[in-house]
Amino acid sequence: MARKVDVNYEASHLFKVRHSTAHVMAQAVLEKFPDAKYAIGPAIDDGFYYDFDLPRALTPEDLEEIEKRMKHIIKGNHKFEKQVLSAEEALNIFNDQPYKIELIKGLEEGGTDEHGNPLDEKPEISIYKHDKFVDLCRGPHVERTKEINPKALKLLSVAGAYWRGDEKRPMLQRIYGTVFEDPEDLKDYLWRIEEAKKRDHRKVGKELDLFSINQEVGPGLILWHPNGGLIRHLVEDYCKQEHLANGYDIVYSPHVGRAHLWETSGHLGFYKENMFSPMEIEEDEYYVKPMNCPFHIMIYKNKLHSYRDFPMRMAEWGTVYRYERSGVLHGLLRVRGFTQDDAHIFCREDQMPGEIDRTLNFCLHILRHFGMNEFHAYLSTRNPEKSVGEEPDWLRAQEALKEALERANLSYDIDDGGAAFYGPKIDLKMIDALGREWQLSTIQFDFNLPDRFDMTYIGEDGQQHRPLMIHRALLGSVERFMGVLIEHYGGAFPVWLMPVQASIIPIADRHIDFAHEVAQQLKSAGIRVEVDDSNERMNAKIRNAQLQKIPYMLVIGDKEVEAGQVALRMRNGENPGAMAVEDFIQFAQKQIKELA
Ligand SMILES: [Zn+2]
Ligand SMILES: [Zn+2]
Repeated sequence: MARKVDVNYEASHLFKVRHSTAHVMAQAVLEKFPDAKYAIGPAIDDGFYYDFDLPRALTPEDLEEIEKRMKHIIKGNHKFEKQVLSAEEALNIFNDQPYKIELIKGLEEGGTDEHGNPLDEKPEISIYKHDKFVDLCRGPHVERTKEINPKALKLLSVAGAYWRGDEKRPMLQRIYGTVFEDPEDLKDYLWRIEEAKKRDHRKVGKELDLFSINQEVGPGLILWHPNGGLIRHLVEDYCKQEHLANGYDIVYSPHVGRAHLWETSGHLGFYKENMFSPMEIEEDEYYVKPMNCPFHIMIYKNKLHSYRDFPMRMAEWGTVYRYERSGVLHGLLRVRGFTQDDAHIFCREDQMPGEIDRTLNFCLHILRHFGMNEFHAYLSTRNPEKSVGEEPDWLRAQEALKEALERANLSYDIDDGGAAFYGPKIDLKMIDALGREWQLSTIQFDFNLPDRFDMTYIGEDGQQHRPLMIHRALLGSVERFMGVLIEHYGGAFPVWLMPVQASIIPIADRHIDFAHEVAQQLKSAGIRVEVDDSNERMNAKIRNAQLQKIPYMLVIGDKEVEAGQVALRMRNGENPGAMAVEDFIQFAQKQIKELA
């Protein structure tokens, strides 16, 4: 993933406001708990936090009171004043603050900054004062507390955090808060947090019975239930058809391969800690595959190639296994076993720019089909200290990637020097309904594997040449993609992806026969349907269908049976009412086709 520091944010007024608010919060906490020990309090992406060692656990009521005190302090319009001093003077000021003492000593020895990050040079030691509060700090801060808008400020939560992230050090209480320039931005942010909680794919996955993770099976391993399985099938089916229609060949490869293969590929050299332990069969070691690439290369190497064979595009829905520490596993987003929609493109130098364009446009075409329309791309370029291959090859590849991004009209950032040692790449992120970025597609050059496997072809000149190799995952991992899809839609997928598209709701038992007749008609028309013939009342049935995000609810009572109609209600709250069964079928088929 592209390493990126948003320089603009760190230089912004908002960044100073947030860090200054962290100081104000620390002052408020010290007023309430005079014996509190305070550690560090930086601004972060969405706000700020401060870590404290307190005599007792904080309650939600405490946060309310602290927030009130903060607003009172802000009203005082205190000035933030910086003072540079010696380590000895600083130690005097913070003589009863053990965390500050440790930080000052770190600064004095020149090893670490006040957040414990390693530093090359010995920094100056400075403090910032406002009102009665003083903190060890490099700044920068706002001039005065009135630059903080108390109406755009909110304390959010408390979490445990080890001092310096070290589980052998004391556990501190971290108070998270946020502040914006404009109260409207705070309102919008709080809405997005609430909405994100509602859309959490683990929660929605349970509600819609899509998947589960069973500790008996193993952490990070996904079980797809019938509902999730059907959606996954529809996703894969659509993608495979599109691959075939767009010049890809579909291949299959085994789940395991001999150690020798992974030695040649280099995985045992630089990737071993991410691989599952080997198993021994007939005195040979086998590894479960963490990647599909070496297998596709062996398919390539199975025969001699000439320049006429290119481009070759080999695609596989390859299931791979990687070791991730149990602490970092997270629902569908971070797992130990997943299926990549993987492809490798082998081509000649003269075909490369065209292939890059084609690949990028194919990614966008597929993702748009799933209702993903906003993207941001990252281009990672060569780090001369850490790269294989020739510089001119890198530069040509980087140029082709950049031009493809521009032709596709995508906004992008360049991560200069951020590429892996074997080639430059594009990471494509989707921006979801809540404005969050999700890493999906990757288009990655490889100047390493063709050499390691001595891949060749006979050129027009009768000489041996190396093909170019590009790795490409489009959805990335299917598991992860499904997680993103769930969060993007909050479970209310487009109709074509819904496991049940219509729920038929007979009001009384005497309507059940007609309900089943209608269901049969819909099934024949290719619409996925269920009849809710439970004993519940109509309103409860409608509520259940709504909770399941079923797009169409078709209510059937006396009037409908008599007229041969259904009364349509939509999950979005629209209520088109009674219509002939035929008309409903046409309406639904149109929406399914339009990916609504
Ligand atoms: Zn500060
Ligand atoms: Zn690959």
